[in-house]
Amino acid sequence: MIQITALPAFTDNYIWLLQDPSTRRCAVVDPGDAAPVQAWLAEHPEWVLSDILITHHHHDHVGGVERLKKATDATVYGPASENIPECNVALKDNDRINVLGHDFDVIAVPGHTLGHIAYYHRGLLFCGDTLFAAGCGRLFEGTPLQMYTSLSRLAALPEDTHVYCTHEYTLSNLRFAAAVEPGNPDTQERLATVTRQREAGIITLPSTVALEKRTNPFLRTAETSVKEKADERTGTHNSAPDMVFAVLRAWKDTF
Ligand code: ZN
Ligand code: FE
Repeated sequence: MIQITALPAFTDNYIWLLQDPSTRRCAVVDPGDAAPVQAWLAEHPEWVLSDILITHHHHDHVGGVERLKKATDATVYGPASENIPECNVALKDNDRINVLGHDFDVIAVPGHTLGHIAYYHRGLLFCGDTLFAAGCGRLFEGTPLQMYTSLSRLAALPEDTHVYCTHEYTLSNLRFAAAVEPGNPDTQERLATVTRQREAGIITLPSTVALEKRTNPFLRTAETSVKEKADERTGTHNSAPDMVFAVLRAWKDTF
């Protein structure tokens, strides 16, 4: 069984640490900074870093790779179509890799960046800056339709899948979610819970696919009330869910 811990980095990033207690090997996802990982390894000298999983090329996700690679024998996995430092295994959609004795499926999720990938193992999703708790990544490289399609693939995973994204953006995402769906009781309840958690300095991750489907407006663009909110914003009839998605994403950019 894999144990998962968040190593905080920068102001709001989490580097996910995966541990296999049976072999004392560990892996990290998106080490934007080597220091938190090296500090953990120094405190746990019996553990070996064997794998580094990268979701996309942004500096806050790959900035620590070179230093970790120099200090360890870890294998670096990353998207084939992006420039990832020290990448050993270049991955594309539907590839399967074995990490810490477990198979992970690679899911291409273009939108935030064009080559962005997610890693899925039954019950676990590492999705970088694509699906956030109650939100989604900005469209730096892709189109709204690409991101909408990517999020739809992730939303189709089993409901009990735990969602490990890279940033602690949940509270601000939920404030936006509450503006989109003021009448959604699940959103109001989650906003109250997350407000308390953040006041206490508690991490709000992981989420689950089930919770995201109930409270993440970007996964709820087929809901009539969400569509009507988008129509209100644009003064037009947004007839397809990906059009509603585009309106929400543009609204969130200036919210
Ligand atoms: Zn990013
Ligand atoms: Fe990021």
